[in-house]
Amino acid sequence: MTDDLLTPLLQGDRRALSRAITLVESTRPDHRDRAQALIAALPDGGALRIGLSGTPGVGKSTFIEAFGTRLTAQGLRVAVLAVDPSSTRSGGSILGDKTRMELLSRNPRAFIRPSPSSAHLGGVARRTREAIRLCEAAGHDIVLIETVGVGQSETLVAQMSDLFILLLAPAGGDELQGVKRGIMEMADLILVNKADGDLLAPARRTVADYAGALRLLRKRAQDPEGFPKAMPVSATTGAGLEEAWTQMHDLTAWRRDHGHFDRIRAEQARDWFMAELRGGLLAQLDAPAARRRIADLGTRVAQGGLPPVEAARQMLDWLRAPR
Ligand code: GDP
Repeated sequence: MTDDLLTPLLQGDRRALSRAITLVESTRPDHRDRAQALIAALPDGGALRIGLSGTPGVGKSTFIEAFGTRLTAQGLRVAVLAVDPSSTRSGGSILGDKTRMELLSRNPRAFIRPSPSSAHLGGVARRTREAIRLCEAAGHDIVLIETVGVGQSETLVAQMSDLFILLLAPAGGDELQGVKRGIMEMADLILVNKADGDLLAPARRTVADYAGALRLLRKRAQDPEGFPKAMPVSATTGAGLEEAWTQMHDLTAWRRDHGHFDRIRAEQARDWFMAELRGGLLAQLDAPAARRRIADLGTRVAQGGLPPVEAARQMLDWLRAPR
């Protein structure tokens, strides 16, 4: 039986999309079943998935407001999702909060969804991947996935995006703002925001520093000459936004032409499968009977009566055939 939400969703109905995302956010078993059936019934969407990361205050919402508005003016439909594991939400504003993007939130070609208030990283990952699929099915051309530049959430977003963009502020000195090498290696484009007024000169210096640092990284198969790239933008004046979009567009076109776009998506699908599998196994370990068994074995290991490796083997055997 097809889900009541499916037809309105495919027609781009916003309320249906909202309700479908609420469904994939739910942890209730009946909701999970319904969500999974709905997701399985979706045709492949054609959206470009753009991940955007940056520390609080760097200008993410200002950028999304300006950039998203530009895209909608070109006739594109834009969805904005947020990945914000509760552990990282300390004092900062809520990602994807509509009051942070007032113009875009009233734009009929845009859809903004704030991050759900709780959930562990694994839950957030699944919810976001499914929400991306829903936004695509609802006819969005661009799905922007916003995250704070903290810990694992960046890696997570990079793993579900076609393009990963790092938004930075101009550095005071010539230091590289402590951006970790691993994060730089994931970036396709580094945008140094606030390149306006007094900050223009420092922004240009920061761009030059990052351009230098990016040249030192190992060349990736999925990049044409000149990528990854660093460039200045100003979310408030709009300077550089058109150029940034051109770069994203060109990079995507090149990757499509050279088979990398589909290959990366295929790898991401495989990663998703593995993540679900690992999550499922961990959930099995978390079941009450399993926990009792683990506590039991743990005590025997601690008392020296059972070698750790033997205990682990017994537990794995038990998981295969719980008694
Ligand atoms: P977020 O926390 O990353 O979403 O950052 P916001 O978009 O809320 O921006 C933080 C502050 O930086 C706000 O006061 C913005 O007005 C300001 N800001 C954002 N973009 C720019 C920009 O391009 N130029 C300047 N000068 N200020 C900016």
